[in-house]
Amino acid sequence: MNTQKSSQEFKQAKQVIPGGVNSPVRAFKSVGTTPIFIASANGAYIQDVDGNKYIDYVQSWGPLIFGHSDELSIQAASSALNNGLSFGAPTTIETNLASQIVSLFDNIDKIRFVNSGTEAVMSAIRLARGYTNKNNIIKFEGCYHGHSDCLLVEAGSGAVTFGNPSSSGVPKSFTDHTMLAHYNDIASVEKCFENSDDIACIIIEPIAGNMGFIPADKEFLSGLKKLCEKNGALLIFDEVMSGFRADLRGATGVYGIEPDIVTFGKVIGGGMPVGAFASTNEIMAVLSPDGSVYQAGTLSGNPVAMSVGESVISRLIQNPDIYKDLEVKAKRLTTGLKEQASKYNVPFQSNAIGSMFGFFFNKNQVKNFEDAKNSDTKLFAKFHKHMLDNGIYLACSAYESGFISTAITNEMIDKTIMIASDFFKSI
Ligand SMILES: *Cc1c(COP(=O)(O)O)cnc(C)c1O
Repeated sequence: MNTQKSSQEFKQAKQVIPGGVNSPVRAFKSVGTTPIFIASANGAYIQDVDGNKYIDYVQSWGPLIFGHSDELSIQAASSALNNGLSFGAPTTIETNLASQIVSLFDNIDKIRFVNSGTEAVMSAIRLARGYTNKNNIIKFEGCYHGHSDCLLVEAGSGAVTFGNPSSSGVPKSFTDHTMLAHYNDIASVEKCFENSDDIACIIIEPIAGNMGFIPADKEFLSGLKKLCEKNGALLIFDEVMSGFRADLRGATGVYGIEPDIVTFGKVIGGGMPVGAFASTNEIMAVLSPDGSVYQAGTLSGNPVAMSVGESVISRLIQNPDIYKDLEVKAKRLTTGLKEQASKYNVPFQSNAIGSMFGFFFNKNQVKNFEDAKNSDTKLFAKFHKHMLDNGIYLACSAYESGFISTAITNEMIDKTIMIASDFFKSI
């Protein structure tokens, strides 16, 4: 596959953009190659600047559940565009989208729109702290909640439950209120509560997609809910990725467990920059302008973004069976890959819920970040290159999830499995 123009474009980008990209994962560093530059995309396919076409399982990292250049989304954007790009004043379209989302959940009365998942989570945590009048938060190793200071933490030494900054530029004191626990390990969360009576909230990806794809155990999530109730803390489900992806009602739909606050992003903007956080009337009452927890945004609730979001969410609500169809396809892919891997004795784990899927080159089941880190990432890098060279665009890291859109067909999935099989055979 000729990717000469992409290489050239990447060189030029690196002159004027740090690392050549506006979000680090796009640099393909963890697979040891260089990114392809995209010219356009349609349905299940993206096309690069050299004219190569790929079946895309990344879908802009999750938002595009109806595939690329989805006609109705583009129509919604264009008709909104005709009325103006932004007003910085309320519009009916915001209320429409809010009503649709709120109507889906018994535990949500109100929703506030922002511009990214990072913002949604940052604001949700401030809200939890403001509501509880407590300072500490618990997060889980391997979960990603955007790039705000207090969430860029990694495990500290030994028995300490408080984390250290995982990025330079974050003062140690900014993470002094962030406690780290192990995913799917309720004892590690109990230990945090034993160490502190100042815990405002637990934040979790209930269906984790940022350490590879690892769904939480149901008992673990209900354990978190009980611990929160007992200790006067709030449970935040970060569903920026899993919301409207794993199920119409995200993890709440999958597990039947209701958090106190939910964050959304990705699919709710359908490819436009949107995030949101939502909760009950009582909790949302402390948010400005009604309450004392400050939060704001010049472009929040942008009319073009809201129109696309409304187009996507309303169609998902009208066609809830979409998730069953997408899950059948996701499982066709993951079981097909697993079958081919075992045929050639390649250690392989896979999983799927709704339109989300993931796999690890690992001989053991993967339940947390420790397990995920024991996967063969070198083998993944080779696999990624083989797939890319053969027209299959997968996330460029062993610790990401994959996505099925309605544009992906069984034929495309079977083709993907055959191409993977060639790789398994060759190693
Ligand atoms: C993508 C993601 C975020 C961050 O969203 P951005 O829009 O990239 O800021 C936060 N939480 C989860 C679970 C995500 O997957």
